[in-house]
Amino acid sequence: MINKYKQKVLSGKKLTFEEAVKLSNSENKEELYSAANDIRIFFCGQTIDLCSITNAKSGKCSQDCKWCSQSDAYETEIDEYELVEMDSTVKEAIENATKGVKRHSLVTSGRRVNDLTLENLIPIYKEIKNKSDISLCASMGLITEKQLLKLKTEVGIEHYHCNLETAPSFFSEVCTTHTIDEKIETIKNAHKLDINVCSGGIIGMGETMEHRIELAITLRDLHVQSIPINILNPVKGTPLENAKSLSEEEILTTIAIFRFLNPKANLRFAGGRLQIKHFQEKALLSGISAALTGDYLTTIGSNVEEDIKDFKKAGFVI
Ligand code: SF4
Repeated sequence: MINKYKQKVLSGKKLTFEEAVKLSNSENKEELYSAANDIRIFFCGQTIDLCSITNAKSGKCSQDCKWCSQSDAYETEIDEYELVEMDSTVKEAIENATKGVKRHSLVTSGRRVNDLTLENLIPIYKEIKNKSDISLCASMGLITEKQLLKLKTEVGIEHYHCNLETAPSFFSEVCTTHTIDEKIETIKNAHKLDINVCSGGIIGMGETMEHRIELAITLRDLHVQSIPINILNPVKGTPLENAKSLSEEEILTTIAIFRFLNPKANLRFAGGRLQIKHFQEKALLSGISAALTGDYLTTIGSNVEEDIKDFKKAGFVI
């Protein structure tokens, strides 16, 4: 069955929800991971697409996303600030560019970036652009079309990031202050302006494998070409602080199924990667074609040089 579905995907046909569920239940997991890796090599080759982020505005968020340490609804220990310092951000982006990172994103907490913050971020983007050839991305919540247009025309933003986070049918279990439809609207606005979209989710929030498949198919239907897969890092003080960790098999199966359902997309290994360092190489070879490197939003991430060494060891070209 695994080989039959692999051939179907390689011939350009789409798997149905039911077929993906069957795949996820297959007994021979090693064959599943290896087939997903073959699909990745066929459509994406050996190059790994690297990006990095700066948390440009941290904390004090009015929303109640249950996984997030930046929500004002929860008592967490994070650094809170209104605007990141320009020099350190520009330096970090330039250093990353020289190491082989292709894209840098500024990320702001909150339901939607306000116009003043956006105005203050423009000079930072311009400085990065003047001093490096790294391409630019933004992640600023439910941004308006007008604000997106400003980012595109004034600083040449090529990508916009807005995670759906989880399946449409599960979203209200983890966030009640905004809806997945508002996120989908944001993705559509970016596409209208010819801005590439990066959108994925977090696994390990209590959702089922069927929810993950629903998310992967929703992203496919939205023609998303960059899909971050984050593994929940349960933060003390958030409602998900005691969430049960996913097993290795569940994580690898999820990555493989995402690859079967989104064969041409960049499946991006993102937050939570350090927790699975002991089987990172296996995860990379289960369908991954991209990674977020360096620090994450509120948690220390990985060292860019060490990541590059690990990716090369797994056979990727930077
Ligand atoms: S994920 Fe974004 S919108 Fe949700 S609480 Fe965190 S910062 Fe706010």
